[in-house]
Amino acid sequence: MPAGLNPAQQDAVMTLRGPLLVLAGAGTGKTRVVTFRIAQLIKSGVAADRILAVTFTRKAAGEMQERAAELLNGGKRKRRKRGTPKPEISTFHSLCVRILRRHATHLGYPEKFTIADRGDQESHARTALREIRAPNDALKPGDLLAIISQWKMRSVTPSQAGGIAETDREHLAASAYRRYQNHLKNSGSVDFDDLLYLTEELFRKFPTLRREEAGRFDHVLVDEYQDTNHSQYEIVRGLAMGHRNLCVVGDDDQSIYSWRGAEVTHILTFNKDWPEAKTVRLEANYRSRKPIIDYANTLIVHNAHRHDKVLRPAKGGGEPPRIMQYKDELTEAKEVVFDIRRKVEQTKLRYRDVAILFRTNEQPRAFEAELRAQDVPYVLIGGMSFYDRREIRDVMAYMKLAANPDDEPSLLRVLNTPPRGIGDTARKRMMEQAVSRGVPLWRVVADFANVEGLTPAAKKGCAALVQMVESWRKDDGPVERLVNRVIDEARYRQELDRIYPDPNERDARLAALGEIVNAAASYDAKDDDDDDPTARPLDGFLEEIALGGPGDNNDKESQLDQNSVALLTLHAAKGLEFPHVYLVGMEEGILPHRRSIEAENESIDEERRLAYVGVTRAQDRLTLSLALTRRKWGKARDTLPSRFLYEMTGQAERAPHRHPKNQHTNGRRR
Ligand code: ATP
Ligand code: MG
Repeated sequence: MPAGLNPAQQDAVMTLRGPLLVLAGAGTGKTRVVTFRIAQLIKSGVAADRILAVTFTRKAAGEMQERAAELLNGGKRKRRKRGTPKPEISTFHSLCVRILRRHATHLGYPEKFTIADRGDQESHARTALREIRAPNDALKPGDLLAIISQWKMRSVTPSQAGGIAETDREHLAASAYRRYQNHLKNSGSVDFDDLLYLTEELFRKFPTLRREEAGRFDHVLVDEYQDTNHSQYEIVRGLAMGHRNLCVVGDDDQSIYSWRGAEVTHILTFNKDWPEAKTVRLEANYRSRKPIIDYANTLIVHNAHRHDKVLRPAKGGGEPPRIMQYKDELTEAKEVVFDIRRKVEQTKLRYRDVAILFRTNEQPRAFEAELRAQDVPYVLIGGMSFYDRREIRDVMAYMKLAANPDDEPSLLRVLNTPPRGIGDTARKRMMEQAVSRGVPLWRVVADFANVEGLTPAAKKGCAALVQMVESWRKDDGPVERLVNRVIDEARYRQELDRIYPDPNERDARLAALGEIVNAAASYDAKDDDDDDPTARPLDGFLEEIALGGPGDNNDKESQLDQNSVALLTLHAAKGLEFPHVYLVGMEEGILPHRRSIEAENESIDEERRLAYVGVTRAQDRLTLSLALTRRKWGKARDTLPSRFLYEMTGQAERAPHRHPKNQHTNGRRR
């Protein structure tokens, strides 16, 4: 009997044959069961390389690999001898890349296919729309990509798409879909959704190849099964239906990817597909202290459709979670970081024991700034560093041009973004001239009238750009005003509308722009004695960002292993645990997200599951915080505490969103 497992866990680990479902709440040792079971299979004589385990992140895969090896070596870390077989532990996407590398030719792709990035996708989408002569503006490339992605996640083929299309836009998209696929194929590339979708198609069309791939393993294990989408479900089924040795583990209360096509029904109906399946339930939570588990339990019962599950603490003691309210979002960030620093200085806590969890991509900016200001090492996971984001880079490139038009990378970045008629030919012409005349590119652009071979449209574009940048150069007023001018005059909002038809995506990008305005506003508001009074505020602002800017946290995983605070989205936090957790921005509109409040359907339940995931990451100490006012587009607005705070503490009936009169204060300008 393996030590370190309770009887229910042992039952799961020792069930070595047939379908097995472990359906259990957070922190009950599901991932531990998968890991121990891999080791147990090998101990019982199964060859390591006949075992396939699928996890949600690469990090999880790496940890599982290491942990399983340790179990086999009696707890010692030992270097595996070269050539000794090991289990295949990977994510769905990397599993599919490996399968497709072997068989892509059957689907008409080269073995050495490339994986298209967003820019490539857009250009293929644009060509496809042009070819079907879609009327201008009827469907933008980004629209098309969003629709295709939804179809691919539901395994809809180009020929099926026509049949299920309802609106005019969908009919257009259906005809463009086939073209888009052909263009990808002709350029020998696949997009991210294709990896899953094509693997499923391969299995469907070529049963012999499916059997060949399935024949490489005798055992399949899947972690986080509640978040599988249709293709993933079919791939798992295809790999396991021969030997039927399939172990899946998951928690319906932690299903948080329905927006990416995940269907919680896959885990809830497992017994239908695999009637002989054994089900094991785990109830003891080994991760969190009792008061934290109490919060999680009282929160999640508010969800309508769920499998009733018990979560009881295996560990005693622990302090009740703290709920902290701060004046505004900057104070929230400052105090949270200060609290972390103090704890690390005064106790044995290390920075790596701490995580700050947030819901939306614009929240981390204030925290990144504070962590840098207070010299606390951190790593941002599962979200781009704020200043790495495309829209932020674009707007910052304009700001940098306003400071220094000779900044060539910035100029190249925005030369035709948003599109203003300066195509590739024009760009090449002007760059050649800049080189031959030995002057900065900006001079050539400003002197466009004397550049040969420019189309009238390109000339018009240059004129507009030059006029805009020149007028910003003369503006030495507050930075906030300048940022707003840049966004307006460069027509950047319209550009976001063009690239991101998906309203969710667009909102997120817009919110990020709002964050630059906020950063500028707080820069303006700060009166720093050190500042040179004669300097232009814009220069100081750009310098501040450059000093604390990106470029120093490339190797995220190793930083997490080093001594850094983890700053991560709730989605990225799934499956992880930390001694101290700060769940920040507990406000209506953030968690639950504004979009799900407006949708008035079950999406509030998914937000509640996200909150549940957040709370259950904490081992010893949980801090929930909110800001009483939060800046949006540079203006401070009152907030309402998240309904989940009331629910967690057993005061659901007092939640402010239930009292309409409160609603007026939400979002009103102060
Ligand atoms: P999640 O739902 O968040 O993915 P999980 O069910 O996968 O959680 P694990 O991460 O496997 O849970 O386990 C949570 C913690 O409890 C880990 O630190 C794990 O090592 C510990 N743990 C699990 N089972 C036991 C046990 N029987 N004895 C001691 N510690 C345990
Ligand atoms: Mg887990």
